[in-house]
Amino acid sequence: MIITMRLLLVEDDPELSQNLFQKLQKEGFAVDVTDNGIDAEFMGDEILYDLVILDLGLPQRSGLEVLKNWRNKNNAIPVIILTARDAWHERVDGFKAGADDYLGKPFHYEELQLRIRALLRRHHKNLGDTITSKSLSLDEETQRVTIISKGDDMNADQDAIELTGTEFRLLRYFMLNPNKILSKSRLIEHVYDQNFDKDSNLIEVYVRHLRKIIGKEKIVTKRGQGYLFTDV
Ligand code: CA
Repeated sequence: MIITMRLLLVEDDPELSQNLFQKLQKEGFAVDVTDNGIDAEFMGDEILYDLVILDLGLPQRSGLEVLKNWRNKNNAIPVIILTARDAWHERVDGFKAGADDYLGKPFHYEELQLRIRALLRRHHKNLGDTITSKSLSLDEETQRVTIISKGDDMNADQDAIELTGTEFRLLRYFMLNPNKILSKSRLIEHVYDQNFDKDSNLIEVYVRHLRKIIGKEKIVTKRGQGYLFTDV
């Protein structure tokens, strides 16, 4: 199962940061790291992360302030805050500011791992087995897509169509973000694997492939902006 989830790790303790980075990467996450609040806020605004791990005690701008600013801008990015152990007020402040979950330091990586999974599952309801839209069903294990209904044709072909890894990740990302304009650069960030040539023209090629498989009308081109998945 290949799922590329993109995480932002904000932690100013270099040892902890490096340690978490390696473990998260090993698990298959695409991870960006920063050690200060100003860069963190900017990155969280610019890049559509699937999840942020946010330390509260940060140089330049506190994690709490970063979180508040995101929420004030209606940025609903899922956030797990890292708080000092036994600092209940930090947790309360964090939840008030819009945190989705917290973890008190020090913690075992396994606990963070479980919280990340739980939060991703909560955020993407369908994560873990099958993702569905109005007329498509995408199986994450087999990376196959099934067209559930083709208009009025009740005997529509129910065969599952096999996708390449990139087609699968692209469709998966579209289905998890319906009715949102997704720029080519955002799509690349969520779709690339290590060997992916980060040329945005490639996205056009993959979108063309996908349209042939699932139907042209489901992915609308927004000129100069990106694409919109409309099968809702
Ligand atoms: Ca810190």
